[in-house]
Amino acid sequence: MTGIIIIGAGKAGASAALALRRGGYTGALTLLGAEPHAPYDRPPLSKAALLEPEPPAPAWVLTPEQAAAQNISLRRGAEVTSISAPARRVHLADGTTLPYSKLLLATGATPRQLPGAAGVLYLRNYEDALALRTRLAPQSHVAIIGGGFIGLELAAAARQRGAAVTLVESAPRVLMRGVPAAVAAVIAARHAQAGVNLLTGVGIARIARAGAQHHLHLADGRLITADLLIAGIGAAPQTRLAAAAGLALDNGIAVDEWLRTSDPDIYAAGDCCAFPHPLFGGRRIRLEAWRNAQDQGEAVAQTMLGGTQPFQAVPWFWSDQYDLCLQVAGLAEPDAPTIARHLPGGTALHFQCDAQGRLIAAAAAGGMRLGKEIRLAEMLIAQRARPSPAALAAPDVPLKSLLAPMAMADASSS
Ligand SMILES: Cc1cc2nc3c(=O)[nH]c(=O)nc-3n(C[C@H](O)[C@H](O)[C@H](O)COP(=O)(O)OP(=O)(O)OC[C@H]3O[C@@H](n4cnc5c(N)ncnc54)[C@H](O)[C@@H]3O)c2cc1C
Repeated sequence: MTGIIIIGAGKAGASAALALRRGGYTGALTLLGAEPHAPYDRPPLSKAALLEPEPPAPAWVLTPEQAAAQNISLRRGAEVTSISAPARRVHLADGTTLPYSKLLLATGATPRQLPGAAGVLYLRNYEDALALRTRLAPQSHVAIIGGGFIGLELAAAARQRGAAVTLVESAPRVLMRGVPAAVAAVIAARHAQAGVNLLTGVGIARIARAGAQHHLHLADGRLITADLLIAGIGAAPQTRLAAAAGLALDNGIAVDEWLRTSDPDIYAAGDCCAFPHPLFGGRRIRLEAWRNAQDQGEAVAQTMLGGTQPFQAVPWFWSDQYDLCLQVAGLAEPDAPTIARHLPGGTALHFQCDAQGRLIAAAAAGGMRLGKEIRLAEMLIAQRARPSPAALAAPDVPLKSLLAPMAMADASSS
């Protein structure tokens, strides 16, 4: 029976499957996932899964019961090995072949590997989190390579579990990708306060094993000895199937504003795809963010059902470290100047505008109360607003008052 097949039972794949049913699709719908689990959320893997006293179950996104109730054929442990695009068929590792009328690739991303280093731990899936939990022992010394979100969240978790932590980042500061310097400085200061040995601006010359220990020889001659070595050096889009099927790639599976690949019957969504963003001059971007996976899953379902709305959600992500919640809306330029709005309680919201004065990003690290302010900034970015720098900087000018009238109703309910 032909119908829609989704490869990748993660956030984007599950979100698309549910949205297809909500959108009225009644045909055959198969969700194929290589992992042995039903779809689950990854954000808790670097947070609650490492911190709770007992290992928590995965945070399910779609249970087998929910899938059955929606008549979604969820197949776990079902790795797709190739796609025959002209014949519209997918081939599974168990030797079966399934026909499709439309295919969605939601294959996610995989951690970039440290070349030539043995015994390094990575974090992407539930099993990785369980393995890390058992190894993050109090009194152990953990070395983390990479000062992005994953590396920093792991550093926070390791400290909270009582381990000594050294984090090495070759860039001049942490969170170089997508976070303004002023906000990254707040995060770095919090890690220093927690006792993390944060080494930035220094590369790694060589990694060696000495029995159970790892020796990190830094480019400046220093030597770090650790019981556990974790790498959080980014993730690569999972494009193997797409490449072999001859689909266009460009820092991920290349899709258009409607999340269509270069094959008219194949779509892509989530971490695996790169798309042109209408709010940012059509610049092709690839996001590794939970809400993007959710939103693109829903958007691609609409496209598959004949919808004509381009995907243009404002990028947004968060990261929890200690008592800080970092949030970024829009696309921040790491080195561009920011306009600061100092909120009561000491947190600052940092805005960035483009050369034409359009608001393009807002970021902050602080308490949970920030959510409302970031949400309003997100609405301003969506409206292509050009607020004056003075208004952005003035805490007594409510962000809500800068919104164009149409969005005011939404803002009052946020
Ligand atoms: C540890 C961790 C913490 C995170 N924390 C945050 C956070 O705090 N905030 C935030 O905004 N984002 C966070 N993220 C990012 C967010 O979780 C991802 O952006 C999101 O999971 C992407 O969803 P996806 O469906 O595109 O990909 P995935 O969730 O990676 O799902 C893809 C699925 O496809 C499967 N697959 C791949 N190839 C095949 C194949 N050939 N056959 C069958 N199945 C296949 C994979 O096994 C996988 O299960 C975090 C990510 C990680 C790893």
